[in-house]
Amino acid sequence: MKNRKKQKLPTFETREQAAQFWDTHSSVDYLDDLDKVKLEIDPRIKSPRDLSPRCPLDQKIMLSRFIDLYTTNGHVKLEKLEELYCREGHYARLAPESEKLVREIELALKRVRQKAEKIAA
Ligand SMILES: [Zn+2]
Repeated sequence: MKNRKKQKLPTFETREQAAQFWDTHSSVDYLDDLDKVKLEIDPRIKSPRDLSPRCPLDQKIMLSRFIDLYTTNGHVKLEKLEELYCREGHYARLAPESEKLVREIELALKRVRQKAEKIAA
């Protein structure tokens, strides 16, 4: 085993700082400075496929496609959002990242509307 030089892990102010750091550094160089965690995996999980989102009706693995979505009463069109859907047509929902993005955009637009109403009043 290669004897690596021990390095001190810097303190990060934001998640972005940590992400930038880990883009250019290896965690192997900081093993002594990292907290140990105990990881338990559900014994029913045998492969990554077992983690895939499933149709609530027939439990089949959902597929992914990109859709355009109109929000805020049709005033804003969001393009190429990832949607998960059952191939049998039972069920469809936005993928978690797309859902989060839609919520953030709707919240930002709500704040803009509230500011505009304050200025108008
Ligand atoms: Zn289904």
